[in-house]
Amino acid sequence: MTWTRRKFGCFASASCAAAFCARTARSQARARVVVVGGGIGGATVAKYLAASGAASDVILVEPKLRYTTCFFSNFYLAGLRSLESLSHGYERLAELYGINVIHDTVTAIDPVAKTVALQGGGRLNYDRAVVAPGIAFNFDAIKGYNEDATQVLPHAWNAGPQTKLLRQQLESMEDGGVFLIAAPPDPFRCPPGPYERACLVAYYFKQFKPRAKIIILDAKDTFFEQDLFQDAWTRHYPGMIEWLPVQFTGGVKSIDVKSRVIKTAGETFNVSVANIIPPQMAGELARRVGLADQSGWCPINPTTFESRLQPGIHVVGDAISGGEMPKSAFASNSQAKVCAFAIAAELTGVKQTTPHLFNTCFTVFAPNDAVSDAINFTPVAGSIKITDIFTSQVGESPVLRREVARVADGWYAAFTHDVFG
Ligand SMILES: Cc1cc2nc3c(=O)[nH]c(=O)nc-3n(C[C@H](O)[C@H](O)[C@H](O)COP(=O)(O)OP(=O)(O)OC[C@H]3O[C@@H](n4cnc5c(N)ncnc54)[C@H](O)[C@@H]3O)c2cc1C
Repeated sequence: MTWTRRKFGCFASASCAAAFCARTARSQARARVVVVGGGIGGATVAKYLAASGAASDVILVEPKLRYTTCFFSNFYLAGLRSLESLSHGYERLAELYGINVIHDTVTAIDPVAKTVALQGGGRLNYDRAVVAPGIAFNFDAIKGYNEDATQVLPHAWNAGPQTKLLRQQLESMEDGGVFLIAAPPDPFRCPPGPYERACLVAYYFKQFKPRAKIIILDAKDTFFEQDLFQDAWTRHYPGMIEWLPVQFTGGVKSIDVKSRVIKTAGETFNVSVANIIPPQMAGELARRVGLADQSGWCPINPTTFESRLQPGIHVVGDAISGGEMPKSAFASNSQAKVCAFAIAAELTGVKQTTPHLFNTCFTVFAPNDAVSDAINFTPVAGSIKITDIFTSQVGESPVLRREVARVADGWYAAFTHDVFG
């Protein structure tokens, strides 16, 4: 069956269906919504808003022709998935949902004139704008590391060429070499990501370079699901992964890119391959158009995801100050649906109900050993708070862990279908 806007109209939960299915006089006002950024947050907003029929015109602006997911990119680093299998086009969003996908970069937004300027020279009017630009890196935070240095010591924290470069370096590394991961301070994209990366690279080393070592030089003293990770490192990769919290090292003080030397206050690391994941902030456009505050992130109203600094512009995804919500694809997708419902409600004049927000995360230690967490959130006093939390436990049976790994695989296919149609 081919989905059409009308057939897809009542896809949401009962509380949201009213907002989406109601067609009032206001919905016929031919409102235009411009969504900036076709990553997980932006593509989801565009799709759900177009499916609702509440806006007459949904435009998605994204420079890339294809989007490569960060999630599961650690599998690619381990040689367990191709990069192509992680890449998604925008054709279905255009064909099935009638979204006008423009491959360009937004250079400015005028919130008074309500226009979006494109690098290619065009200008788009909007009634509502949504900005979902993901993250940017604070290169000033590490002496010796800058944008150029990423071509030698990749961050691989936006999937694509950076991930490919890191994989090439891991492949050409000698057995017995040292792979160093510099893990960033909070808040950052994907809290379990650097530690899952250590696991899956260790899985690769165990087969092909069993004398290699992995050092995680952390900017923190604790990290997400630490007990689960440390248990997995002992069981699967004994002696291979060493985690150094900031209290012992003081963190990365300087990097000599050419000689691959990384210094802390008291130690010098000569490494074969380094994955430097810098401190992060909201994507550059969000900061340029005044959506971010001094924290570097974008404050929003958690019921509508409208900016607290620029009325009429909504922000979703990793760029926001998300309270207790982590910066993840699942969270971005959940925020995007709430944002789409809120804009639809506004355009159709339907009252919005209090939203529920969710995050589910699968973390893979080895191909048949995965864990998950599931967290519910709700807006409280202008922020986002956890209401319920489930996490896997140390000591679970191998049968359960294998089943979670299988479910994680299924989740990837279902989730990317939800985002990209
Ligand atoms: C190694 C790793 C593993 C991960 N694993 C998981 C996981 O298992 N589960 C999970 O839920 N999350 C995971 N994540 C996190 C997840 O990838 C991010 O949280 C998610 O991509 C955030 O979505 P976003 O829309 O905010 O940003 P993005 O997906 O980065 O999208 C931003 C988009 O905006 C575009 N853009 C930026 N500026 C402009 C502009 N000026 N004009 C037009 N377009 C612009 C960019 O081109 C980009 O396509 C992982 C991340 C990493 C790094």
